[in-house]
Amino acid sequence: MQDNAETGRRNWPALADKALTKTGLTREDALAVLRADEGDLLEIIAAAYRLRREAFGRRVNLHVIQNARSGACSENCGFCSQSSASHANIDRYPLRSVEELVAGARQAAGMGAVKYCVVTSGRAPTEDAVETMCEAAHRIRAEELKLSICVSLGLATDEQLRRLAEAGVNRYNHNLETARRYFPHVCNTHSYDDRMATVRKAKDAGLEICCGGIIGMGETLEDRVDLALALRELGVDSIPVNFFNPRPGTSLEHTPPLTALEALRALAMFRLVNPRTDIRAAGGREICLGPLQPLALFAANSIFTEGYLTTPGQGYSRDLEMIRGLGFELGCIEA
Ligand code: SF4
Repeated sequence: MQDNAETGRRNWPALADKALTKTGLTREDALAVLRADEGDLLEIIAAAYRLRREAFGRRVNLHVIQNARSGACSENCGFCSQSSASHANIDRYPLRSVEELVAGARQAAGMGAVKYCVVTSGRAPTEDAVETMCEAAHRIRAEELKLSICVSLGLATDEQLRRLAEAGVNRYNHNLETARRYFPHVCNTHSYDDRMATVRKAKDAGLEICCGGIIGMGETLEDRVDLALALRELGVDSIPVNFFNPRPGTSLEHTPPLTALEALRALAMFRLVNPRTDIRAAGGREICLGPLQPLALFAANSIFTEGYLTTPGQGYSRDLEMIRGLGFELGCIEA
């Protein structure tokens, strides 16, 4: 197959070869994936799958989220039902105890998860949250559970990140959420640069970086590509790709929904731009992808199981059924 300048149709297998070169995909290449004809979807997924398979085989890593403090956040992220600007009907509760966090880790390990992701609502970590998380990390490490710990506490300082790393936290999550250009349309109580700065500080503290965003919040195709390129530039370890599931009561609740085909093209584009990075088909996968959900695992190599921060997922058994039905297997922590 040749590239066709007139139709924009590309040689998709050749794009997977290009993904593995030093320069990788260009912005135009990545845009071509998002603009591709629907009839090309399987070829694009196949190109993404080749890269996913080379880097991760047929393993699917499970991540389990613990929403350790819910709601009452001072920030105004328009997608988030935990923002104090939202009227969403969610459970709001204060910080979970160390015991609850450790119990959640045991449960996650019991499900074969490789990552336990502890998230608190709020602009920045409180002293209490850092201390509780450090104590929980010590205890989880002491139990030698076969999972690693990721925390997401907001705009953290160097000192807070260093303490978390010393306590045994492996990874810090802080999403860019969208492209720099579109970020002010989504949030203006903090900036894209604030987010970038936290990611860089977490990296300097020796933590692995989990950083991704949300597709379908009204951004352009160019914005989607710019987010994928920004994550490549930052050299993040893990990219959660969330599919926007507009929540009633939030300022973005009337955003037109993303189609499953758009979402799959976006996921494949993230893989082609970031060929060796852990990529997660994250929040909204069930709602947005519907019956096409299994196709996501040909581009992504990880998923959250047992639900998200404020919304349920399809549940662990159905996730396992999907993974095994595809002939894939659960990933595990390397010894
Ligand atoms: S900072 Fe986090 S918890 Fe707060 S509104 Fe934004 S996404 Fe939600």
